Amino acid sequence: MDEQKKIKKPRGLARLIPGKCIACGDRCQASCPKDAIAMNDKGEPIVSAEKCIACRKCMKICPATAIEIYFTPEEQKILAELAKEAKTPVEAEESDKDTDTIAAKLREYKGVWVFVEQMDGKAAEVSWELLGVGANLAKARNVELCTMVIGEKVENLCQESFAYGASKAYLIDNPIFNHYRTEPYYKAICYLVNKYKPEIVLIGATGLGRDLAGAVATELRTGLTADCTNLSIDEKGLLLQTRPAFGGNIMATIMTERTRPQMASVRPHVMTMPKKDTSHKGEIIRETTAIKEDDILVKVLELIDNRKQGAEEIDIAGAEVIVAGGRGVKSKENFRILQELADELGGVVGVSRGPVESGWMPVERQVGQTGKTVRPKIYIACGISGAIQHLVGMQDSDVIIAVNQDGNAPIFEAATYGIIGDLFEVLPAMTKHIRELRAKKRNGA
Ligand SMILES: Cc1cc2nc3c(=O)[nH]c(=O)nc-3n(C[C@H](O)[C@H](O)[C@H](O)COP(=O)(O)OP(=O)(O)OC[C@H]3O[C@@H](n4cnc5c(N)ncnc54)[C@H](O)[C@@H]3O)c2cc1C
Repeated sequence: MDEQKKIKKPRGLARLIPGKCIACGDRCQASCPKDAIAMNDKGEPIVSAEKCIACRKCMKICPATAIEIYFTPEEQKILAELAKEAKTPVEAEESDKDTDTIAAKLREYKGVWVFVEQMDGKAAEVSWELLGVGANLAKARNVELCTMVIGEKVENLCQESFAYGASKAYLIDNPIFNHYRTEPYYKAICYLVNKYKPEIVLIGATGLGRDLAGAVATELRTGLTADCTNLSIDEKGLLLQTRPAFGGNIMATIMTERTRPQMASVRPHVMTMPKKDTSHKGEIIRETTAIKEDDILVKVLELIDNRKQGAEEIDIAGAEVIVAGGRGVKSKENFRILQELADELGGVVGVSRGPVESGWMPVERQVGQTGKTVRPKIYIACGISGAIQHLVGMQDSDVIIAVNQDGNAPIFEAATYGIIGDLFEVLPAMTKHIRELRAKKRNGA
């Protein structure tokens, strides 16, 4: 055997990059198969050079990319030599072989697909918002932008897909898909994905979308990042899926490197609605599936509209003006002041989590990470401190006006205009001023 064949590629050792650890818990320690990581008093990892096998598990799991693989100068020399003589028959590592096979498989997948969520033939707007961001992804990858339209008598949604930018729509039109049920819908999507192999699949993070996306990703054995707030393509062509993590304290960017399709869900109003162009046409690919009604376990007996059951009817997610109150409003009754201003502006009242936890307002009004994402023209935040979990739900509003008596409140960093003052004085003054302006206008002054 040639001497060169015996050269082993050095694997290095894991080590902490100073200043980067966020003490997230013991994720790196828990991931180590060799018990090579101990945690110090600050919650940072200490790697044992004797035990570490540089398997990179700690590095991959670290949400703050605080762990790197370190090579000694001697090892670096060997690596440099190996790189120079790339054709040298170095003992190939098993994992490299795997990587080649996987890469070849991944290359079979092409195109960006969006699932068009619909009810009674009317699309959920989030589907078109996804076509907006999908167009950017498709352009970056130089691939087609397509939709999946599934339902009964829903061909009109293919035309609408084209108007919002898709060039192809995969249509499955069958009475089985009249009402949403997980089983037939996820099977239909898996059938289309397995047949046409899109590299990216985007689904709205609505109640229906959350149910569906999880089932599809599980069946396809691929990754899914829920509730993304940003989607882009990196230099290697991978989908970068960014979302808040660790209670919103950091933004994590997740990649699906070894499986396809790369799946992401996005909440309504997070992405910008693309322009509608009814002159833009596309191609409809009609498909059928072998799914039969008799094989589906769940039957829809009756649809009950919960809006008639006294549930909240106000849709803060679609409002153009939101006057939102936080703990600073202090009581349920005090929300009357916010309602008066909202009425003057033709808007609605929203809340941070504080008032929901205190039982002053229903959860349907909550804005933020565990509430709704909103993108109104005007967002007036009153007595809201501006915690990151709140900001992620409203920071893309066109104009943000913050009213807070604490000049150091973080909400001012996100605000277009800030008013440092007592909301119980500022809000009535605003309402009064708007009324006066209206009256003047009516009187032709
Ligand atoms: C996993 C997780 C998910 C979460 N999801 C959400 C979410 O979806 N939405 C959300 O909002 N929060 C969420 N939170 C909670 C969040 O961290 C904050 O606790 C919450 O947003 C604080 O609400 P607040 O700003 O109303 O209250 P506070 O932080 O108590 O702020 C009250 C503010 O009112 C001001 N104020 C008091 N009196 C007056 C006055 N008279 N005039 C003017 N200003 C006054 C104070 O200066 C203060 O800044 C989540 C937390 C976690 C851990």
